[in-house]
Amino acid sequence: MEKITLSSPLKTALGLRSAAKLVDKLNLTTVGDLLRYYPRKYDQRGKLTDLASLVVGERATVWAKVISIQERDLGHGYAPHRGKRPGVKHITNVVIGDSSKKLTCTFFNQYHWSKMLRPGTDAMFSGKISMFNKTMQMSSPSVAVVDDGNRAGNDGKDAIDVIESFPGGVIPVYPLVDGVTQTVVQHCVHAALNLLEKIPDPVPDVLLARHGLVDLETALRDIHRPRNQTHLDAAQERLRYDEAMAVQLVLARRRADARNFPAEPCPRIPGGLLDVFDQNLPFELTAGQQSVGETIAIDLATIHPMNRLLQGEVGSGKTVVALRAMLQVIDSGRQAVMLAPTEVLAAQHARSLRDVLGPLGRGGELGAPPEATAITLLTGSLPAKARKLALLTIASGQAGIVVGTHALLSEGVFFANLGLIVVDEQHRFGVEQRHALRSKHPDGNPPHVLVMTATPIPRTVAMTVFGDLDTSTLSELPKGRSPIGTTVVPAADRPGWVERAWQRIGEEVAKGHQAYVVCPKIGDADEIEMFEDGTTFDPDADDETENSRRPPLAVNQVAAMLRDGPLAGLRLGILHGRLPPGEKDDVMMAFSAGELDVLVATTVIEVGVDVPNATMMVIMDAERFGMSQLHQLRGRVGRGSAPGICLLVSEAPAGSVGRIRLDAVAATTDGFELAEADLALRREGNVLGTTQAGRSTALKQLSLLRDKHVIEQAREDAIGLVGDDPAMAAWPGLAEMVSLVIASESQEYLDKG
Ligand code: ADP
Ligand code: MG
Repeated sequence: MEKITLSSPLKTALGLRSAAKLVDKLNLTTVGDLLRYYPRKYDQRGKLTDLASLVVGERATVWAKVISIQERDLGHGYAPHRGKRPGVKHITNVVIGDSSKKLTCTFFNQYHWSKMLRPGTDAMFSGKISMFNKTMQMSSPSVAVVDDGNRAGNDGKDAIDVIESFPGGVIPVYPLVDGVTQTVVQHCVHAALNLLEKIPDPVPDVLLARHGLVDLETALRDIHRPRNQTHLDAAQERLRYDEAMAVQLVLARRRADARNFPAEPCPRIPGGLLDVFDQNLPFELTAGQQSVGETIAIDLATIHPMNRLLQGEVGSGKTVVALRAMLQVIDSGRQAVMLAPTEVLAAQHARSLRDVLGPLGRGGELGAPPEATAITLLTGSLPAKARKLALLTIASGQAGIVVGTHALLSEGVFFANLGLIVVDEQHRFGVEQRHALRSKHPDGNPPHVLVMTATPIPRTVAMTVFGDLDTSTLSELPKGRSPIGTTVVPAADRPGWVERAWQRIGEEVAKGHQAYVVCPKIGDADEIEMFEDGTTFDPDADDETENSRRPPLAVNQVAAMLRDGPLAGLRLGILHGRLPPGEKDDVMMAFSAGELDVLVATTVIEVGVDVPNATMMVIMDAERFGMSQLHQLRGRVGRGSAPGICLLVSEAPAGSVGRIRLDAVAATTDGFELAEADLALRREGNVLGTTQAGRSTALKQLSLLRDKHVIEQAREDAIGLVGDDPAMAAWPGLAEMVSLVIASESQEYLDKG
């Protein structure tokens, strides 16, 4: 047989008919694809059980000889309703035995066993022991043939040769799909490893040496046929690095690409809007705001587009940083747009920008200073006429600052000269939307982009999901901020505490402060239980919460209950996503102006809403919210000088998962710590979006939680390797590795991210 390489097509390379199955069913096209198809676990032959000591219900691996094999075709007349397995057309019963006892192994709809497991064959069988017709059996075990007793009589080219005993007795167990068996994968892998030429290593030796990693050949051999745990560990470590490296190479190339685009430089102009604004700023910028501001000012002044992520805890003052960037761009005669996730937030941004800019924001109006610009609000709910007018001021360039929601992304919005896009609270924007944004530059030059988020992103996630962005962080809060005290109120065991919570709101209001009450649901009669962000709430899915039997508390009902009861006499307002558009804005404005004492709301207030006089928040059914979401919500209070109080009301009993999460939120105000904990509870695939790809080949070994240092190393290495050569002409092997490790759909995904 000829020697093969990693890029040899699998179908022909192995000379095995069974290889076609791997191509068709598992989508493994090349030998390299197959070798990157790692076992999902390993069975250790050391733990062999003898047949006499098998226990029903447990998994076991036995080494036994095939005594007899019998096949049965069930054909059409088979009746699934008689308690049999539906869809079974063919059964193979293999009786195996060791010195002590016999056992029947049963396979369904698999036609090759009679060829592989002839009487006399020695093999290992691994599977769960069950009872059927009062006898023990193992159904659909994974099989590794140790010695085929009838080798002489075995003429079929495709019949399993011999898988010599696995080194160290470690048997790889592969993830399977219908129609592909363990043995087929094991055998093809084995054949490939035997036929392979020396595998060249795409990763430079110096990097391997620096990180103490084994070479690719060793890693691929050992991941499939480890001699012992130490070799397996080393192989996994190397392959984890490859995955981290592949992701980071894609991102580094993406960044290098972006850097190579031209952009119109917008340097700081002395005596411009920004200078006038700075002179009139009612407070002093924090050190963080200053230094991030400097960085952004330099980014904007260069001839390449800025792509920057600004992270900062709620209340850290990101808006003023963004505003100053917008003013610098306007000073160069260009436009800036700020995108917010909700209409409420967009309207609030427009209002507060107008407040802060004063006459400087009234461009075009009578008596405004000559350097003034205009601020235009564009949301989906604008009446047709107002929308037309807004679009006109945007297209004519009259509006220096445009504030809006997703509506801005819809067609028909043209900018005269867009220079900067600010995306506030990025986590509410989909990957696709972010991509759409970047392409809104019909004149050819992409605008500068500043993405802001208060959702603390664990470093590893930031390095992957936002790895194409440069990152800045505001880590201090402006002076005079008060801490937020968070307490869990166990509603079931301590109904008295809930009463006390309402009293406490009364006391805050008596002191001239305001409060929020947050509920998971709106409460319309016909409502599907939908959160503001469009995710639906499925009470059945959430088995952990003890009160999944009761529907979540709703804004409308809770508001009515409070109005007629504990908060009678206070001025209550209601806010949620289904209010008529104008009303939402009116309610928010009334609350900001202090004309309402208590706002009963959904998570619509989660991001960005800024009313410094609000000091207290009561969150009902708090276990229904995610940890990061609770952290975001409570960030709405304690924005002024008075201390903030947040009460998490929940019926989740002590010790339940729901309650443990709430206790964790109450125990720390460190958003990063909570984000890590949140990540631990989520499926990592969802973080990366790899589950989108049909086969989730990306990142099989890598864990965003565990492998922080691997990702960091790989990131550094990738940036060094890519340098200013996004095509990686100097490293063709690495470019090839990227496409082997990450399916192309996922690369596109990362590209768009
Ligand atoms: P976030 O980062 O959560 O978006 P904001 O930008 O909304 O925070 O700022 C929160 C509040 O802090 C606003 O009322 C803002 O005017 C105020 N603020 C921002 N920077 C400072 C500062 N350096 N000193 C005092 N107050 C500030
Ligand atoms: Mg904000």
